[in-house]
Amino acid sequence: MNINQNFLKLQNSYLFSGIAKKVKEYTAANPDKRVIRLGIGDVTLPLVPAVIDAMQKAVLEMGNASTFRGYGDEQGYSFLRQAICRYYSKKGVTLSEDEIFVSDGAKSDLGNILDIFSSKNKVLIPDPVYPVYADTNIMAGRKISYMNGNANNDFLPLPDKKTTADIIYLCSPNNPTGAVYNKEQLKLWVKYALKNKAVILFDSAYEIFVQDNALPTSIYQIEGAEKCAIEFCSLSKTAGFTGTRCGYTIIPHKLIRERTALNKLWLRRQTTKFNGVPYIVQRGAEAVFTDEGLSQVKSNISYYLQNAEIITNTLKSLDIWFVGGKNSPYIWLKCPKGLSSWQFFDFLLEKANVVGTPGAGFGKNGEGFFRLTAFNNKENVSEAMERICILKL
Ligand SMILES: *Cc1c(COP(=O)(O)O)cnc(C)c1O
Repeated sequence: MNINQNFLKLQNSYLFSGIAKKVKEYTAANPDKRVIRLGIGDVTLPLVPAVIDAMQKAVLEMGNASTFRGYGDEQGYSFLRQAICRYYSKKGVTLSEDEIFVSDGAKSDLGNILDIFSSKNKVLIPDPVYPVYADTNIMAGRKISYMNGNANNDFLPLPDKKTTADIIYLCSPNNPTGAVYNKEQLKLWVKYALKNKAVILFDSAYEIFVQDNALPTSIYQIEGAEKCAIEFCSLSKTAGFTGTRCGYTIIPHKLIRERTALNKLWLRRQTTKFNGVPYIVQRGAEAVFTDEGLSQVKSNISYYLQNAEIITNTLKSLDIWFVGGKNSPYIWLKCPKGLSSWQFFDFLLEKANVVGTPGAGFGKNGEGFFRLTAFNNKENVSEAMERICILKL
């Protein structure tokens, strides 16, 4: 028996365990200090009432023989897929129900989608970015090249003459930078993919944070994208479903490679290896897309964005370079005084008792940068910023 040797090529991620260890040591040595965490990529507000009502109703249905449900469609109940279609039609995107696949979250689908692609494909991944894209490809033994996000391109890399890729990952609004591609920039990627018969894997997990109406919230708002892109989205950040688990993936029927519809391959993959999302959770997800649910969810998003604004106002007053924060819960800043990511982490922890995330943990281009998140309460965010202001950065 042989193991999958590719797993040995994975780098150990010390990012979140490293942060936890440093914070634990600091608080043990300084029990009188109150540490404020602005480093976590997880929501803090609870599920909204519309979701709770819908799930409670579904629980009762499951306890009654006449309304009980066993296995559902692997690709999700029709009621939820239709609700997602309606949500997309408001974005000006027309989808059919069978172009949507409901799942237990975007992370699983982003990893699992690789089943339908040859391991010979060349993969292009932004740096810095969500580490799942690279790790899932390393596990599958695929060759990865990176495109550089940096202060010169506002962390939004674009294709150039040297770009060669079969599979292209884009994350917009981006984790960790909060940067958002505009329509002209996405057009360049769609043009590249159509010309080179590549496929774009578009992660729109933070789309609901986009406030600027001119910015795209779906790749399908770009002409031709239905022939070259798969979109991954999730209710995790949209509606606080990080612990409830529900996402969806869109594969348009027009996306065809080697005379094969990718939608059909993914359907075959899902019906073989996946048995669907719990009925109760799908009823909760359906409620997110009702007028009532959307208005409740958007009020939570506004709360996070107000926190983000408190952070960006502080950075502006301190003359610190940053991107993100306006259409995203993430703020990506340049470490002051030429400090490295981890030096700035230690400095903030010790001098302000504030925890953020070192940018170096998201790729080599993240070195010298730092991520702050709006996922905390307003009082804590304000206090953290007051503490940072008196540091004389
Ligand atoms: C949080 C997040 C997701 C969502 O993952 P789930 O598995 O749906 O919770 C996807 N992509 C990025 C970039 C994220 O930060």
